[in-house]
Amino acid sequence: MADKSFFIDTTKCTACRGCQIACKQWNKNPGTKTLQRGSHQNPPDLSTSTFKLVRFNEVEVPGGEPKWYFFPDQCRHCMSPPCKEVADGKAKGAIIQDEKTGAVIFNPKVKAKPADFKEIREACPYDIPRFNPSAGIMAKCTMCFDRINEGMLPACVKTCPTGAMSFGDRKDMLEKANKRLEEVKSLYKEPMLANPDDVRVIYLIVDDPKKYHKFAVAENTIGITRKMALKRLFQPLNGLRHMIG
Ligand code: SF4
Ligand code: SF4
Repeated sequence: MADKSFFIDTTKCTACRGCQIACKQWNKNPGTKTLQRGSHQNPPDLSTSTFKLVRFNEVEVPGGEPKWYFFPDQCRHCMSPPCKEVADGKAKGAIIQDEKTGAVIFNPKVKAKPADFKEIREACPYDIPRFNPSAGIMAKCTMCFDRINEGMLPACVKTCPTGAMSFGDRKDMLEKANKRLEEVKSLYKEPMLANPDDVRVIYLIVDDPKKYHKFAVAENTIGITRKMALKRLFQPLNGLRHMIG
């Protein structure tokens, strides 16, 4: 199986929350009691039982109608996941990355201490990891690893009625994302792909990222890109060592 990625085109998202429900159904996660908090967004945040959340952000437009920004949030399955880098030094085996697909998986069999989890969450540029302190278990999107291993699409992608979400081989998703980016350039002033080189969940957004979600785009990808640069730098050396050894 090849390296996988998602492409999420927010210009096609109508905030129906079909993906959010499909994710709960497939993962057998319980529903959360909804509450009117002055927003249609429910539940208010990701949790150990909500791996996918459509974020609703209402922005006031001076002299005009309020504008909604929709953002189907989930783990980005980073190319070099900083969460795993921290976990490897704290709770070995708690976070694993599938070599073929690139899926970043939280292993429920390895427990983490609350202090370790705090560091793991802080390392994530997208504020994704969540924790059940009584069980010591971390949770987040699994890339529907069980489904894709059987040749099926992730549940959230399969259910999306507008075609806002795609999943497939990384090179195809990057191609699709860049093609769509070119298409929307004539329609929107500031379209962009969010950190496409660093993540496996590539979002197309067409306005200031902060209007979608505080963590839509990584504030500081230096940690990720530096690690990737070092990896590339030492790859030939490792290969040479292998040949000499
Ligand atoms: S988005 Fe966060 S939790 Fe997901 S792989 Fe990247 S660092 Fe880890
Ligand atoms: S890939 Fe699966 S686990 Fe991840 S958000 Fe989609 S439905 Fe949920």
